[in-house]
Amino acid sequence: MKVSIIIPCHNEEECINKYYDAMRPVRQKLDVDFEYIFVDDGSTDKTLDLVKALALKDSEVRYVSFSRNFGKEAAIYAGLKNSTGDYVGLMDADLQDPPEMLLEMYEGLQSGEYDCVGCRRTTRKGESKIRSAFARMFYRLINKMSDVEIVDGARDYRLMTRTMTNAVLELSERERFSKGIFSWVGFKTKWLEYKNTERVAGKTKWSFSGLTKYAVNGIEDFSTAPLKFNLILAISLFVSSLAFTVFDIVWWCLGNAMYEWFIITPIMLFVAALLAVGLVVIGEYVKKIFREVKARPIYLVRETDADLDRNADIKITCDDYTVSDTKETDKIDA
Ligand code: UDP
Ligand code: MG
Repeated sequence: MKVSIIIPCHNEEECINKYYDAMRPVRQKLDVDFEYIFVDDGSTDKTLDLVKALALKDSEVRYVSFSRNFGKEAAIYAGLKNSTGDYVGLMDADLQDPPEMLLEMYEGLQSGEYDCVGCRRTTRKGESKIRSAFARMFYRLINKMSDVEIVDGARDYRLMTRTMTNAVLELSERERFSKGIFSWVGFKTKWLEYKNTERVAGKTKWSFSGLTKYAVNGIEDFSTAPLKFNLILAISLFVSSLAFTVFDIVWWCLGNAMYEWFIITPIMLFVAALLAVGLVVIGEYVKKIFREVKARPIYLVRETDADLDRNADIKITCDDYTVSDTKETDKIDA
């Protein structure tokens, strides 16, 4: 059994050693092989030097260093690609993800009931009110607009089995939105809750514009709902055109004088509606191209009979089944 922990780092010189020191007792409590995979995401401070020093001291420390800053999503992907563990975890370097929770996550996977144990914060203490409000709005919006369910407050902090890790890697799309991908791949996730902890040192790497871009990307990657706008536009234009025509007829029947623009307006609305229908048709094809280009797997397997332990005593806990099964056996015995 081996556990890999991926730590994306961008200018985290103040946190690296604090993180490693906080992780040591946790690591020691786990009786498994272990690897830390630090992903230096184009840091311009001493992050890489500090990670190298750790790697020289501790053979369980591995690292990947990017040529420039590619963003946390790229760092997560690189970490997952390079991981060799049976269980693979993600953790921030700033200790906002409490290390001791890793033990509970490990237990959760060991039970065999879950493929993933994730963490969600129930509070957002220490975060600006505006950021929290926008974050809540984003979760509500993305859950309405897309098929994937994204748990409010869910962090990237999670531990997954190798099967789920490979499934996540099968989604090889370039524009990665991990929160959506983790949900899209399915599998059974157990959620642990905790109260928000603040960064141990340094500053958040997310600017407001960066977060907005992240949110818009997330919606674009997992929803084609914005294309529905064209349909709404087409219907509205048609209805307006029709209403104006009816109004014109009534107006004319009542013996009123007709103005030029009374005739031109419904015609223009009708032409605009036709163009909007064209956009709807194009939108449908764009939707298909979007899906094909993403080339997401058609299905993902959780397990097959090859994984079945034939010596294991499997208990089926369906009452109906047990009852009828017993009756049949009784009959045969009789
Ligand atoms: N991070 C990264 N690349 C980036 C931005 C952030 O690897 O371009 C890392 C960062 O070093 C940290 C984690 O992602 O380990 C979370 O970043 P941060 O704490 O700034 O985000 P927040 O917790 O405020 O959402
Ligand atoms: Mg943080």
